[in-house]
Amino acid sequence: MFLFYIFMFFLGLIAGSFLNVVICRLETGETMVSGRSHCPRCGHILAWYDLVPVFSFLMLKGKCRYCGKPISIQYPMVEMATGILFLSIFNYQFSIFNEFSISNFQFLNSAFNFFYFLLSTFYFLFIISSLIIIFVYDLRHYIIPDKIVYPAIIVSVIYSLFENLNFGHWDLFGNWKLEIGNLITLFNPFIAAILTGAFFLSIVLITKGAGMGGGDVKIAFLMGLILGWPKVLAALFLAFTAGAIYGIILILMRKKTLKSKVPFGPFLVAGTLVALFWGGEIMRWYFGYLF
Ligand SMILES: [Zn+2]
Repeated sequence: MFLFYIFMFFLGLIAGSFLNVVICRLETGETMVSGRSHCPRCGHILAWYDLVPVFSFLMLKGKCRYCGKPISIQYPMVEMATGILFLSIFNYQFSIFNEFSISNFQFLNSAFNFFYFLLSTFYFLFIISSLIIIFVYDLRHYIIPDKIVYPAIIVSVIYSLFENLNFGHWDLFGNWKLEIGNLITLFNPFIAAILTGAFFLSIVLITKGAGMGGGDVKIAFLMGLILGWPKVLAALFLAFTAGAIYGIILILMRKKTLKSKVPFGPFLVAGTLVALFWGGEIMRWYFGYLF
């Protein structure tokens, strides 16, 4: 079991270094597949020992082996974050699936459950990776890349349909009992997505794009699909609170005025990640506080 966690962490580190490549190539417009990894400063092709996640950065003390210019802290940060999030997703998936079974690994007994476990784990790893790219890209360029957010939305739509339509069980006679479930469960993520998207769209229209842009509407829609109702509320609450605190700190430090641009995407992504893991607890805490 412990080995699985180690494995997921290292898988995350490797995925993180791939995400760095995707981010860089989105910027320069290079294709994803062709071209060896190279130093963005001097263009020197990097050897495999320069590409070991996190460790290469530490060994080289953050400087390029060939030109000595500093390497962006973005690289090891993205790799570490991906490693930790991959590990968290695995842990989260295990706790969810174990709730439905008596002993560890028991849920893996049925082929369908095993398939469902794999599929939902892959889905979350894909979504986490997309969110990390959006976070970094928006932070650096104030743009939500369509090439990332649209595929994430499409995959989420397909996954939500699968999750709520195909959920069923084998009955005592060995017949597959399909539980369409109630329509509320099926439509929940779509209603959450449309409401959250509409909420952001109205902000954009009212403020005439001064505070947020169309990219934020797209992330809002995606958040609804990923989290569903009411978890998406927890994510929005966190994002707006964190964004407001950050804005006040910047103004107090006189770094920015009220009118200057702060990307909101990273706050939405961070809110989504926190709500994904602790959304239930946050809602319970918040509503317990209110009533
Ligand atoms: Zn270099």
